Parts: sequence; C-alpha cells; structure tokens
Amino acid sequence: MTHTSKIKIADIFHNTDPSLDRQLLEKADHCRRQHLGSAVYPRGLIEYSNCCRRNCFYCGLRRGNSLIRRYHLQREQIIELALQAYDAGYQSICLQSGELSSSKEVDFIADVIRTIKGYRSKNSGQGLGITLSLGELTYKQYRQLWEAGAHRYLLRIETSNPLLFQKIHPPEQSYNRRLECLDALREIGYQVGTGVMIGLPGQSYEDLATDLEFFQAKDIDMLGMGPYIPHPDTPLARQKTEFIPDAFTTTIRMLALARILMPDINMVASTALQSIHPDGLKLGLKAGANIVMPVLTPEDNRKDYMLYANKKFSNFERLKHDIHEAGYELTLWQWGDSPHYFKRQGLLTTDYAPTGDSTCSLRSRI
Ligand code: SAM
Ligand code: SF4
Repeated sequence: MTHTSKIKIADIFHNTDPSLDRQLLEKADHCRRQHLGSAVYPRGLIEYSNCCRRNCFYCGLRRGNSLIRRYHLQREQIIELALQAYDAGYQSICLQSGELSSSKEVDFIADVIRTIKGYRSKNSGQGLGITLSLGELTYKQYRQLWEAGAHRYLLRIETSNPLLFQKIHPPEQSYNRRLECLDALREIGYQVGTGVMIGLPGQSYEDLATDLEFFQAKDIDMLGMGPYIPHPDTPLARQKTEFIPDAFTTTIRMLALARILMPDINMVASTALQSIHPDGLKLGLKAGANIVMPVLTPEDNRKDYMLYANKKFSNFERLKHDIHEAGYELTLWQWGDSPHYFKRQGLLTTDYAPTGDSTCSLRSRI
C-alpha cells in the first residue's frame, strides 16, 4: 500500500456519510463472490481452558483477574466435543485457550490433536481440520502441534502500532516477539491468521489503515478482527484515553476494506462483532467475512470464558438462518481452507474465481 492510499483509507474511516458504507459493502460482496463464492464455513470453537499465564490489560482471562472460576476441560471432553461437531458436518474446529506454554500442557493438546486426527468422516472421508489459537509458544512447540496434525493458527497482532501494543500489554510481552511467532508459524507451514482489536483506547484511524497495510505485508492467509469490548475487571477498561466514536461501523468498514484488498483470504465474522450489535453477523458477512465460529464450549464453562462483557452466543439454527438471510450458504462437509494459502504455496496457479475472473483492487473499486 502506498503512502497516498494509506491516507485515503484513513479518510474513509473519518467520513461520516452513510452512503459510503453501502458502497463499501457492495464492493466487498462483489469481491467475495468472485473469489470465494457464497460459501460460509464453520469452525466449531472449543474454548478448552481459561487459565492463562499472561496479563494482557484488556482481557477478562488475564492471570490477574481473580474474579473468574478457572477451568480446564479433560482430554475426553475435548475429543467428544470435536467429534460431535464432526458428526454435525463441521469439518473444522478451532481449539482456543489462555496462553499455557508448559511442555506438559503442549504435550496434552498435541495428544488431543493426534487423537482427533485419527478419525475419518464417513461423509467426506477426510479428517477434521484443526485451527489453533493458543498464543505465543516456542518454535519447537508450534512444530510439535503442526506434526500432531493442526494446520491453521490464529495469533492476533492486536495492533500493528508497536507503541500502542506496549500500552495494552505488560512490559514482558513484546511486539517483536509476536512478530517472531507469526514468522515461525509461516515457516513451519501453517495457514497463518492474525488480526486486531478495533476501538482500543488511544487507537487512531491512521493506526487502522496501518493495520491493513500490515496484513498485506505479512501476506496472511486468515484474518480475525473485531471490536474491542471493555471488560470491567481489567486495567484497560478503567483508562480514560479517547476512543474512536463508533467501533461497530468502523469494524464493518475494516472488514470490507480487508476483503477488497485481500480478496482470497479467509475472514472471520467475530463473536465480538455479534456481541455488540444484533445484526453483527449479517453485516460482517456482507462486509466479506466467510468464516463463522459457533461456540461449542460446554454451557457450564461459557460464562467463565468472558474475554469481555456481555459475550453473546448464537445457536446453530440461528446462525444458519442469519447466514441464509444475509444471502450466503452455510457450507458443511468441507474444510474451506484459505485459497490464498494454496496460491502462495504455488498449489493454485490461476486466480480461484467461482463466479468470475476479475481481481479486486482498491483503486478500481472505491
Ligand atoms: N490466548 C490466546 C491469544 O491471546 O492469542 C487465544 C485466546 S485470546 C482470548 C483471543 C483473542 O481475544 C485475543 O487475541 C484478543 O484479540 C481477543 N480479546 C481479548 N480481550 C478482548 C476484549 N476485551 N475485547 C475484544 N477482544 C478481546
Ligand atoms: Fe491470555 Fe490471550 Fe487473554 Fe492475553 S488475550 S490474557 S494471552 S487469553
């Protein structure tokens, strides 16, 4: 992205004309249909532990929060949930937890992954696709989990502004370490996803334009971003620094711009987006998201996996209904990997275009 187009993107965020939102959604939808069709793929989200060694200033799971009940699902519980998802047609799950990096813990989840990967679907004949979101681990640990059978990894950069990153994390967490982790994941061979929170205290529209530039420069395969939602028992919630005025609209604009700039990546309609607006899912999909993450965590544990206040959950029927109403199709029995990943691996030589062949460029479309 050139300096001029970065300024143009920041201008889009500053613009309050509602007709701009309509235009952005139309262009994002056009790009998505051309490159990815109308499919929406589910990743059954299993939040298997809320224990965390980190103390991120924004997150309800931070180790300093003594007001939550900590849990860790048993091996059999995780496997059972994964196989239930599998039988229901979800061909992918996402295993997520607080950051737990002891070798005992990594051995534990590697064993769970290997066991789940041992099963084959009668319908599709393939194993379950596994995405991980476990935070910062060592190169060796990432490799161990890859060898166990995981093939996608989500690690948000949270903000591409190093100064802001440092303000929302304690000193022992560093921006450069996060970059090293993203590079390690790519080198090992994972489909790599990252993302940011939108509306952080002190974050500017220019920061968001730089985030989009960062995603492109990192050549990412998957994107998961959503609004920052304060959690009352965290230090960041008590900060009085200025916020951007409308995190929901800005998130929808970010998604639409990301889809236009990176038409072949997989992009999540985040739970946070669905939690702050009743039409969050539908608008997120219209803005170009093609992945949803229905929560499979047992009912009993969900209230203890509160990253932010008022986290909402959609059941399967509601999700299916909303996806259909938005004009897309919930697609079961397929992994739904990121076409971008296959292209950068040289495994797809031509543009994958289910309904057309034109590429999407910001210049020609805004
Ligand atoms: N511990 C792992 C990690 O940090 O990558 C995975 C789980 S962590 C809860 C997943 C994501 O939740 C983080 O990357 C962060 O962006 C998001 N998150 C945490 N607190 C949040 C908040 N208050 N509002 C919105 N998103 C939040
Ligand atoms: Fe832990 Fe992840 Fe929350 Fe940070 S964002 S406190 S690493 S769960």
